[in-house]
Amino acid sequence: MYNKLVKHLIFPLHEKIMGRDTYKFLEQLSREQYLPEKELKTLQLRKLKELLIHSKKNIPFYTKRFADAGFDPHKMDSIEDFKVLPLLSKEEIRKNLEDMKWKGSPGGLHRYNTGGSSGNPLVFYFDRRRQAYDAAARALTHQWWGCDIGDKELYLWGSPLEITKQDKIKDFRDKMTNDLLISAFEISEAQIPKMVEQIKAFKPKCIFGYPSTVALFCEMATKQGYDLTKLGVQVVFSTAEVLYDRQRETIGRFFGGVPVVDSYGSREGGFICHECPEGKYHVMDPNYIIEYLKNGKPVGPGEDGEVVLTHLDAWGMPFIRYRTGDVAQPGEDGCKCGRTWSVIKNIKGRTTDFIVTPDGRWQHALSVIYVVRDIEGVDEFKILQHGVDDVEVLVKLHENLYPGDGDARIVAGLKKRMGDDVKVTVSHVSSIPREASGKFRYVVSKVGAFERG
Ligand SMILES: [Zn+2]
Repeated sequence: MYNKLVKHLIFPLHEKIMGRDTYKFLEQLSREQYLPEKELKTLQLRKLKELLIHSKKNIPFYTKRFADAGFDPHKMDSIEDFKVLPLLSKEEIRKNLEDMKWKGSPGGLHRYNTGGSSGNPLVFYFDRRRQAYDAAARALTHQWWGCDIGDKELYLWGSPLEITKQDKIKDFRDKMTNDLLISAFEISEAQIPKMVEQIKAFKPKCIFGYPSTVALFCEMATKQGYDLTKLGVQVVFSTAEVLYDRQRETIGRFFGGVPVVDSYGSREGGFICHECPEGKYHVMDPNYIIEYLKNGKPVGPGEDGEVVLTHLDAWGMPFIRYRTGDVAQPGEDGCKCGRTWSVIKNIKGRTTDFIVTPDGRWQHALSVIYVVRDIEGVDEFKILQHGVDDVEVLVKLHENLYPGDGDARIVAGLKKRMGDDVKVTVSHVSSIPREASGKFRYVVSKVGAFERG
């Protein structure tokens, strides 16, 4: 019963106090997910045009940018027209932040930042409209998996940023809205019993968290003999990191064979796409224009391109043709679930998830991850690329299974993938630190973190 109260009274009231039209947008998105393709394109063009006219009028950075490109949004009659504008890099945002803000934003602007792939934080601003759309997109995709506003949701969260924000008011709000946040910033064996007790007492319907964190929790709890297969969890939502197959299996099994659902987005880019029950990743088309570009040219289905986004509801600080630094492929349109939103495929990690070889190849993290993962007795590990020919592997062992030639195998495996001239050192450590954001990264590359030209 309480979940109905949350859905129909408490959450709407909370959003109203915050000045957000989340419910209105949720209703819109619910309808728009089945719009025929032609109507969807018309909707995107209308929203894009409104955004660009607003940007020209109210945002000094774009007023100048449009003039420099000889672009007038009033004359647009196709989505293609705005592609004469240059791509927007993180560096430009850092340099021009003040000029990218809409000073007259209703409800004010709200400052956020991200650690950034190079550890160089990117500061940006959201207005209430954008917050509401992102929240509505999240609520809608939860509904795809039978999880409604007001249902009990456990956040197994790794970010100290979120924890520090979790003051008493938020703690109270979480209770009111049926959410529970468990800090999993540094999971240890000793914490597991307490965490399991909290989860058992709360009985969540869905779980939301970083896959690395949730998987680690599941592995440790399994090892300590805990069984949560009958707890009634119906779905686990994975966020913010690449979800590896092995993690999907571990997590799904631990909670009794439930689906583990993936999504893709970022703090600055927002809630870009989400997996549907047919296993396809649908782009939130009414909120975005997504381009897939290689050397500035669009790629076709089955080809890798950098994801470049325009957020149609970010009016407070518009992101227009923003280079995410992520790589993915456009999918074939159409899905058995009936949703008409476009499909994105083979999303590869952030730029940090790549290793750059001395001969200039960008290797996906998995290619080096497999080398270390294949060696028995490795509990956790992290691969640090300090320079193009200098790699360090941090290894935390469990039990005594680690073979005598383990270090030599890691060195040989990495040299094989990266080149013989690369210096590889293996360091044995007792714990592996998380990133400042709380995310876990298997591969951190100082070379691969530079934005690609
Ligand atoms: Zn689908």
